[in-house]
Amino acid sequence: MKRVLLHICCVIDLVPAVQRLREEGYSVIGYFHNPNIQPEEEYRKRLQEVWRLSVMWDVPTILPAYNPIDFFRETVPFWNTPERGERCRVCISKNLKATRDLALSLGIKYFATTLTASRFKDLNMVNSIGNSLSTNETVYLESAFRKSGGQEIAVKIAKMYKLYRQNYCGCVYSKRDAIMKRRQNNT
Ligand code: SF4
Repeated sequence: MKRVLLHICCVIDLVPAVQRLREEGYSVIGYFHNPNIQPEEEYRKRLQEVWRLSVMWDVPTILPAYNPIDFFRETVPFWNTPERGERCRVCISKNLKATRDLALSLGIKYFATTLTASRFKDLNMVNSIGNSLSTNETVYLESAFRKSGGQEIAVKIAKMYKLYRQNYCGCVYSKRDAIMKRRQNNT
């Protein structure tokens, strides 16, 4: 069976990604590489939920150490850029490169990301970063997991299992922006 190393950003986006990849005949191995999630308490919460579904759905998942320092070092210059801008490009590149490198070292032919299940992500940005990281040994699987009913199935399964749904993308900058947006909407 074809194996794919799947970068997992959160449990909600994991749902359609696993379903789609399995339908397409892939054996899925998860990789929860997310130094971009802050604070650590939130990281642990999302990890716990990913783990819960991974166990229920029998998705072997690799958990690296949590190390947000590099994320800050590389994204601080872009602290005030909008979501989907340069900060996100650095963040997504970092997570996909780590996934590609692990796939290479484990001899896994394909790598992919759950990020394309999110309606907040720029699909072109995610897929062009992934494609640029492809090598002869490890190939990026372009995807659009949110399409063709992906979002609907994510909502349905999330309700069924009472999965945790975060209200900001992950980094402190996105948390700041979400708080400011809520304040503006309340005034
Ligand atoms: S908004 Fe999301 S994708 Fe962009 S830098 Fe923050 S965590 Fe990464």
